[in-house]
Amino acid sequence: MQNEVPLEQLHFSQYLLDQLCRRRVISRVYDSEALESCDPTWNQCDLCADRLASTLAILLG
Ligand SMILES: [Zn+2]
Repeated sequence: MQNEVPLEQLHFSQYLLDQLCRRRVISRVYDSEALESCDPTWNQCDLCADRLASTLAILLG
């Protein structure tokens, strides 16, 4: 049983490693249907907010 990683720890490391969207990991774990990223109508997670800001920066030059 030495190799077994606690499930919470596994989820937490996935959460930290996921560079696309924080909610994606959570939705994958807790919902049957996985999100690709935050819905634009929600408060964005920090990753989506950053991505949105850099996309806007590129678009606006
Ligand atoms: Zn997100």
